[in-house]
Amino acid sequence: MIFNMSNTATAEEINHVIERIKECGYQAHVIQGAERTVIGAIGSNGRRSEIEALRAAPGVEEVIEIAHPFKLVSRQLRQQRTVVDVHGVKIGGGDLVVMAGPCSVESGEQLMQTALAVKAAGANMLRGGAYKPRTSPYDFQGLGVEALRLLRDAREATGLAVVTEVMSETDVEIVAEYADMLQVGARNMQNFSLLRKLAGVPRPILLKRGPSATIKEWLLAAEYLLAGGNANVVLCERGIKTFETATRNTLDLAAVALVKELSHLPVVADPSHGTGLRSLVGPMSKAAVAAGADGLILEVHPCPERALSDGAQSLDLPGFAALMKELGREPSRDVKAA
Ligand code: PEP
Ligand code: MN
Repeated sequence: MIFNMSNTATAEEINHVIERIKECGYQAHVIQGAERTVIGAIGSNGRRSEIEALRAAPGVEEVIEIAHPFKLVSRQLRQQRTVVDVHGVKIGGGDLVVMAGPCSVESGEQLMQTALAVKAAGANMLRGGAYKPRTSPYDFQGLGVEALRLLRDAREATGLAVVTEVMSETDVEIVAEYADMLQVGARNMQNFSLLRKLAGVPRPILLKRGPSATIKEWLLAAEYLLAGGNANVVLCERGIKTFETATRNTLDLAAVALVKELSHLPVVADPSHGTGLRSLVGPMSKAAVAAGADGLILEVHPCPERALSDGAQSLDLPGFAALMKELGREPSRDVKAA
């Protein structure tokens, strides 16, 4: 339930409603707007009939039922869009954010070369997998902590904020120590114990949509993070499984547009995993922007034919620079990246 307080409600009236919500067995989430205060009563164990009576409390203008099973991520609760700040990069603030880098961190040279090139072309953040979720146990699994150190070096050299995947609860602390933003991979979207742990970590989260997850399930996964106390969540559409085999996944751009209607959280698109094909990354990047994406996450490799993972969908360095130009990006004038 959402309590919209009147714009003349006093602090005393607002506090009274918050206290009563808690006494009725619900959590009170307070959103302080420029003109009025909105209070969400969230929880499944509260006493419904008692809270209903609060409609009559002084200062309450209207009470709205949240129509969806997700509450804290819902735009009904918070109309103002969330802007997630990742070490100074504002995602959802109106400017397109581009995260770029290799699928996997393979070596210091590969990462540094890529980081300098994507920075020079105008990227805002560096991506790179240290812990890789691979379909086969015989495929390259990532360099782990060594990759985290290389990401930190590249961050120092370029100033780019780093996003990398955390696959397991046991790695959360170490990844949070090195990275600016923690990615929950598609295969882990409904790893609820991982989500609960990440809810308590002081780092923004990039939550990828599961390959077979509905939009409702995806938003409920985000709800775990917000309900546990981490409001800095960015959603990432990375393609879903359909009957189509010509592309690796089907990039669901309607989901980008719909999620922006349903939720106040920023949404980015991953046309690399969403298509699996280098030639489609440019067109689908532009399509994602047209659909309202707040950012893009793109795989870039200095020599895609030698990549240890996802070479077929990786842009090379000139290909990335060309796409950035098409997206209207100015090359960076930062001397560090020259
Ligand atoms: C990745 O970003 O490299 C990755 C493994 O993505 P996803 O979880 O979407 O498959
Ligand atoms: Mn990949």
